[in-house]
Amino acid sequence: MKKVELLAPAGDLERLKTAIRYGADAVYIGGKKFSLRSRASNFDIPDIEAGVEFAKEYGAHVHVTVNMIPHEEDLDGLREYLLELERIGVTAIIVASLSIMNLAKEVAPKLEVHVSTQHSSTNSSVIKFYESLGMNRVVLARECTLEDIKATMEQANLPVEAFIHGGMCVSYSGRCTLSNNMTDRDANRGGCAQSCRWKYRLFKDDQPLHDEEKLFSMSSKDLCAIEYVPALIDAGVSSFKIEGRMKSQYYLATIVRTYRMLIDEYYAKGEVSPARIAFYRDELSKAENRRTANGFYAGHPKMQDHLYGINGSGVSQEFIAYVLDYDEATKIAKLEVRNNFAKGIQAEAFGPDTKNTNFIVDMLYNEDGEIVEVARNPMDILYTKIDIKIKKHDMIRKIIDKREKIY
Ligand code: SF4
Repeated sequence: MKKVELLAPAGDLERLKTAIRYGADAVYIGGKKFSLRSRASNFDIPDIEAGVEFAKEYGAHVHVTVNMIPHEEDLDGLREYLLELERIGVTAIIVASLSIMNLAKEVAPKLEVHVSTQHSSTNSSVIKFYESLGMNRVVLARECTLEDIKATMEQANLPVEAFIHGGMCVSYSGRCTLSNNMTDRDANRGGCAQSCRWKYRLFKDDQPLHDEEKLFSMSSKDLCAIEYVPALIDAGVSSFKIEGRMKSQYYLATIVRTYRMLIDEYYAKGEVSPARIAFYRDELSKAENRRTANGFYAGHPKMQDHLYGINGSGVSQEFIAYVLDYDEATKIAKLEVRNNFAKGIQAEAFGPDTKNTNFIVDMLYNEDGEIVEVARNPMDILYTKIDIKIKKHDMIRKIIDKREKIY
């Protein structure tokens, strides 16, 4: 059986490398033009080329979102852009417009064309239609239930991709103009301001429906499909997509590594026990900063799957350092500081090939050999001794016992 692909987002080249090092089989990125989230993208052509070269070293692939809904003025330069992507060895483009699908097939036939989730594909009939157009993959709507997917896969011939983790819309994904109306930022041309998550006053007949203290928001909880991974593999889904091109390097490393371990365990053993699912949930919670739910997999979301009136977010302070190097002989780790921490704290190292390794930061010094009591400045270079072997590119997080449980 061909193993399901783990497809991760990346907002820049550094995050692309992290996602691949931590276990992604493929990464999707957006260029500076023709992409949703273009405001968040740092990929120009040389960066995409560098990303493709890096991915090749790991046998991984790069997909590029060309998923804007183009107006007449947006078509300028599109043909040349597609030719460039094909030339530099991008595997696939993710497309939301029939005009771009058509053009890509005409001018850049080596590029796979994946039909974006913005097309709200929810059944086998629409997948057959895209197959007839020569498309190579369909990204299912996030609004599909597991039963929808099973029924679809019995009939579908094209590979399909399903979201397993990340943000959700309260509207049908890609069919929302709330941001356009509220901010004049076009959600379908890269500008969604997430207006659904703002706080609103509700009125009926000029009377407020709630007191001033409790403002109302329409935010969906983020998707976490960890319990559905085995069933989605059994159903025949070809690719698991993680949402979040604006997420941090630490978030990506944690989420990708966790799903990598879960997928590999399922293929190796044919099952994942409830205790292991609980372990993976706990791993995810070390990076999550929003509450999560099952999305549509169990059926239509209920009250408890939304966040009404609460924001539900908070910045995780757990990521404290990136491992730039590790000397196995002296056991000295060279760290790049990310968030402040003090000598004496309990910490945990983890990495692509490093199991969670707990240790106490009992010594800390800088490049001049001076003792440091508190690492205060992000990007400072510091050194510490870690007796258990870790590796370059591992990460260090602070253990917080009383971390709020978000599941
Ligand atoms: S405003 Fe909210 S529902 Fe609309 S596209 Fe943006 S995130 Fe989705």
